[in-house]
Amino acid sequence: MPEHKRQNALLPPRRKSKQILIGGVKVGGGAPVVVQSMTSTLTQDITATVRQIKELEEVDCELVRVAVPDIEAARAIKDIKKQISIPLIADIHFDYRLALAALESGADGLRLNPGNIGEPERIKKVVLAAKERGVPIRIGVNAGSLPSRMDSPVKPENDKGVDSRWSLPRTSIRGGNDRRRSIPDRMVDAALAQIRLLESLDFDLIKVSLKAFDVPTTVAAYRAIADKITYPLHIGITEAGPPRTGVIRSSVGIGTLLYLGIGDTIRVSLTAHPREEVIAGWEILKSLDLRQHGPVLVSCPTCGRAEVDIVKLAQEVEAELTRIKKPIRVAVMGCAVNGPGEAKDADVGIAAGKGRAILFKKGRKIGVVEEKDIVRALMREVERL
Ligand code: SF4
Repeated sequence: MPEHKRQNALLPPRRKSKQILIGGVKVGGGAPVVVQSMTSTLTQDITATVRQIKELEEVDCELVRVAVPDIEAARAIKDIKKQISIPLIADIHFDYRLALAALESGADGLRLNPGNIGEPERIKKVVLAAKERGVPIRIGVNAGSLPSRMDSPVKPENDKGVDSRWSLPRTSIRGGNDRRRSIPDRMVDAALAQIRLLESLDFDLIKVSLKAFDVPTTVAAYRAIADKITYPLHIGITEAGPPRTGVIRSSVGIGTLLYLGIGDTIRVSLTAHPREEVIAGWEILKSLDLRQHGPVLVSCPTCGRAEVDIVKLAQEVEAELTRIKKPIRVAVMGCAVNGPGEAKDADVGIAAGKGRAILFKKGRKIGVVEEKDIVRALMREVERL
């Protein structure tokens, strides 16, 4: 399992949140930020779903969510759970019986909005069943499916109108006037209403998300709720798109929030195989130095000074590094201008010249290799570390 490291001293402190346990995985309360994803298979197709979850496990997905559109899917969770190693969260909409069946099947977490599963009695049944099993519920508010108006905007107990480190100034999200509430405000109201509903049933195993496609909206919503509640926050940019643009959009949104200290678990939502979501999630955490996970590749953008094909070389090294789990830094540099400096700072690195490269290890030059042998020599040293 990927290791956690002490937080980089240059980062602002993380928001203090309550800790919950999802099937043994700690979320919030200072635990490492958790990487999660969601399957794209039909949950009823147990073989396909287990296969995909195993693919996610291979890239160190730590929590997985599955859609539960019907009773067959809810029952399938039992067999899926027997064959996987990571906790499973059931995604429920509208039908409280699906939530009860998913809990019966051993789901480790629920994602639902109590307000959309009907009468108070039904909500109570689900909450009691979750409480009995110690199963947390994620309240997930999406900007795209907000109620048209909040009948009774909920004032949180600790909302004293004081801006804190995480909050935006009031005027910036309320436009200086409450007559037309902003989308982030409405998202926060919707989440608080659902939270109070669960709290009224003496339930506090809660996780909250407030997602939008738009990064400023998402960031404003999370900042607005961050000091109103202490529940852990699941963060992400919803429906971020296909990998090329979706990874960038998600990185900007999730990265901004994490930098501010907000976020206990993340999902990068992509129109792609969910494996890509997990890989991107880890890269975001590594970029902020929040977690260690496998190698970091430093490679130069190449320019007219390079005398070897650095693009090809970097791609080959990147492919080789996918099987390495060690949290090491590898450098592939094109010439003598920045090359030796970067390569020397890495655990292993090369600075290429004409038809050959200098090989560095832990800051020391350990040899010169021919161009055709660069990848092999570099990987040999990586393996030896
Ligand atoms: S390391 Fe050398 S080749 Fe690479 S971008 Fe910098 S100057 Fe250009």
